[in-house]
Amino acid sequence: MKLEKVYACYSKDKDVRLSSSSGAVFSSLAEYVLNKNGIIYGVAMSEDCYSAEFIAVTDRSELIKLRGSKYLQAKVGDTFKKVKVELQAGKLVLFTGTGCQVNGLKKFLGKDYENLICMDVICHGAPSPALWREYAQYQEKKSGGKLKGINFRCKDESWTDFGMKEVLENIPEDSVKKFYISKDKDPYMQMFLRDYCLRPSCYECVAKKEKMSDLTVADFWGIKEAAPEMNDGLGTSLVLIRTQKGKEIFNYISCKMKLKEVTYEAGVKGNPAEYKSCARPSQRDTFFDDMHTMSFEELEGKYAAPIKYSLKTRVKRKVKKIIKNMLQVIGGGGRAESNIEYGLLFVLRV
Ligand SMILES: Cc1cc2nc3c(=O)[nH]c(=O)nc-3n(C[C@H](O)[C@H](O)[C@H](O)COP(=O)(O)OP(=O)(O)OC[C@H]3O[C@@H](n4cnc5c(N)ncnc54)[C@H](O)[C@@H]3O)c2cc1C
Ligand code: SF4
Repeated sequence: MKLEKVYACYSKDKDVRLSSSSGAVFSSLAEYVLNKNGIIYGVAMSEDCYSAEFIAVTDRSELIKLRGSKYLQAKVGDTFKKVKVELQAGKLVLFTGTGCQVNGLKKFLGKDYENLICMDVICHGAPSPALWREYAQYQEKKSGGKLKGINFRCKDESWTDFGMKEVLENIPEDSVKKFYISKDKDPYMQMFLRDYCLRPSCYECVAKKEKMSDLTVADFWGIKEAAPEMNDGLGTSLVLIRTQKGKEIFNYISCKMKLKEVTYEAGVKGNPAEYKSCARPSQRDTFFDDMHTMSFEELEGKYAAPIKYSLKTRVKRKVKKIIKNMLQVIGGGGRAESNIEYGLLFVLRV
């Protein structure tokens, strides 16, 4: 497949980057579109946090709703029709979603629009929204509170050791409580990462062969080998530029980012979801049968036992955490702090 360029990159705005899943390329693109009085379509959590849905954003203060991956299939509703109306009115539109959603929009439109920019994410698969709802209600039942916010890719521990941060309100003895759950311990993330709960089409994803977006963004999971100088632990994006339009826009926003050109092979080495679907696990059918008959707790017991790490890995993580806390007490700042942390970890070989 012909590609214009491939980059490792991240936004120079540390706060925006920390609230994004990877290197915040999405936010840089969104800023470009808002500066031209354009409109952005992307995925936000619903008010009750029980589902994910496409919304339109024209105001900078609303961008936060679109930032960050929501690991469940989002409701498209009448979004495609709305996009068409805006395009016909001459508005600049940025549509962001999974590859199948971008392809769906392009097929619905039936012709090219100069004022449409499409960005997709490398997509491993979208979990069942029904499972998410069960999980959300289970978390509420356990805490006695109401889910008010969710960050699926919280970077408090680090970009690579991400976890879920859940904000719950009206918990009996407390008014608002935040929970951080490591992805290795969270049952929902385990069901997602073990591929049990994806939509049927994700195991034979047609969008892997037919790419219709201008740019594709992802986590640069192979960054340590491909461009170690671009890895400060706060999140680095992989950007695949597919069209001339994508190239021009990316050139325009590149002054807001630190970037390095890489080869396609180096870019996707740690990210096979770019070119192949994940295998359908043998338990996938029984998982969904059980989901309809079991409580979430029973489902967790059967399918999502927490990962048990070796003593070496546990010690390594503990030391990493101690160093991080020490540096926070000393009062390092962002990248400098991260570089010292990496230096110390390298010296200690942990
Ligand atoms: C279901 C899913 C699976 C993914 N699988 C992989 C993978 O296997 N490998 C990989 O490297 N990256 C994967 N990603 C992409 C990755 O998690 C980041 O979203 C991406 O790198 C963009 O990060 P960012 O820092 O530029 O911006 P962010 O601010 O993190 O990006 C948010 C963008 O993602 C879109 N988005 C959020 N949730 C959804 C959703 N449910 N459906 C459609 N669009 C959504 C928003 O509209 C917005 O455009 C996946 C994302 C999703 C949503
Ligand atoms: S894996 Fe393919 S079919 Fe599944 S959500 Fe992602 S792009 Fe769509």
